[in-house]
Amino acid sequence: PSKVGTLKCGKVREMESQEGVAAITNPMRDLETVDEDLVQQMIYDALVWSSLHGLVVGDKNVQRSGRTPGVGMVHAPFALLPLSFPESYYSQACELAPIFNELVDRVSLDGNFLQDSLTRTKKVDAFTSRLLDIHSKMLEINKKEDIRLGLHRSDYMLDEHTKLLLQIELNTISCSFPGLGTIVSELHRSLLIHYGEHLGLDSKKIPGNSSVSRFAEAMAKAWTEYNNPRAVVMVVAQSEERNMYDQHWLCSLNNTYNVTTIRKSLAEIDMQGELLPDGTLLVGGQAVSVVYFRAGYAPSDYPSESEWSARLLMEQSSAIKCPSISYHLAGTKKIQQELAKPNVLERFLDNKEDIAKVRKCFAGLWSLDDAEIVSKAIERPELYVMKPQREGGGPIFLIFTLPFFLLFTIIYIIHWWEHCFRTRFRYFISGNNIYGEDVRETLLRLKKEGSEEDAAYILMQRIFPSESLAYLMRDGVCHKDQAISELGIYGAYLRSKDKVIMNEQCGYLMRTKISSSNEGGVAAGFAVLDSIYLT
Ligand code: ADP
Ligand code: MG
Ligand code: MG
Repeated sequence: PSKVGTLKCGKVREMESQEGVAAITNPMRDLETVDEDLVQQMIYDALVWSSLHGLVVGDKNVQRSGRTPGVGMVHAPFALLPLSFPESYYSQACELAPIFNELVDRVSLDGNFLQDSLTRTKKVDAFTSRLLDIHSKMLEINKKEDIRLGLHRSDYMLDEHTKLLLQIELNTISCSFPGLGTIVSELHRSLLIHYGEHLGLDSKKIPGNSSVSRFAEAMAKAWTEYNNPRAVVMVVAQSEERNMYDQHWLCSLNNTYNVTTIRKSLAEIDMQGELLPDGTLLVGGQAVSVVYFRAGYAPSDYPSESEWSARLLMEQSSAIKCPSISYHLAGTKKIQQELAKPNVLERFLDNKEDIAKVRKCFAGLWSLDDAEIVSKAIERPELYVMKPQREGGGPIFLIFTLPFFLLFTIIYIIHWWEHCFRTRFRYFISGNNIYGEDVRETLLRLKKEGSEEDAAYILMQRIFPSESLAYLMRDGVCHKDQAISELGIYGAYLRSKDKVIMNEQCGYLMRTKISSSNEGGVAAGFAVLDSIYLT
């Protein structure tokens, strides 16, 4: 990707009248026509603003940055300007949030549906199997979660071919960036207040984004429902976390509700946790009212049995789990695929209009025991994505985990034979998913081996969002490249027995990544935080 520093903007144009026209036809990111000095000034201002306003992540070049707050910070990767996004699609995505919240809740209550849908997956996927074991134990003891808190994020892409807003996935555990996402919207608003006139852009077209404060409010309400003023909110975090400031944004808001927050790793919870006879969870002697997971979604979060026993301990307790094991399972890709089958949504939702709205955003989703679709995918692999039951393989994630990724790759080189290595290495590079030629290779391999491993995956229609030019900021350098974007809508759901206390859409997150990043290569994982400019 070229850098803006070397961008030849060409003529410095008269901005007033001409930029006004450009704002209608090609409103954003047409910085080609803008004076280069002005672009450089915006970049400078944006970097200063980010540092002053906590739009930061740990800097991987500084060893302690993932452990000690205040050490080794760098601005979070961000787009210089917000992405143009049609208001109608934005409203559609927002409207879906409370419906998905309700859907997750209903699905979570159907233990048999979760177990049955994941039976085949369980045989081949050790991680999902462990989650299901915890879930089974809860079914056996007839564990009831009277107070249920969901902090979800449903992700969408706008498919250029069909002109439909299609769901990528629904995250029910550890939804990242409610904090930094809010701040990126503020950064963009601030830039447009300053430079909008020159750019022909209006800062008011960036929709309000209160994800972090609404999530904090939901947590505080859950804490209130739990009704133990001395109890704390516990964030389950990875022991090394470069995205800690996003999490701290949320926790610092908890303080405004007079709620104390503690941060623990799964290993610490195993060491310090105990369960009182009445179900109270104590960690380090403190009663816990809400357990908020920002770890525990990936196999690497459970390096030993201790972490699993911590997870079980929390699940057995009366603390409000965000998410509970059932909410977690309801957000797996396999369940997403099951819900897309005919007549399944009808089991969980009553309102016909809601069902129609949800169905409209479903992309094609299939399990691999559908021989016809497997043949089609072998024939035209570029039209499909193969997904394992994993979380957090998104490109942003890789930015923070590059060192682990390298280590992982080396381990792969040592342990796996060449053929297997090739497929796996490439899918790891693009997150957990498999694209393009690798879809064909993997499907053929699975077919040949005739093993049950196919149950570890689902097939999904590949969505093709339109590309646009973006200015992506990373490490203080601006890269200009073609990019695609993914819109996430946060939703909060809080229920106490029959009473729904909160069921709302809570802000958004736009993520923009260079469009070639699926195919791997050096730039793999180059994605930035972004916001929306409504058109
Ligand atoms: P994760 O839980 O790892 O984030 P996702 O389903 O979100 O899993 O996939 C990771 C990334 O892969 C997404 O952010 C998106 O960029 C891309 N992706 C996923 N599904 C599709 C699809 N159907 N079409 C195109 N890209 C997709
Ligand atoms: Mg996910
Ligand atoms: Mg995702």
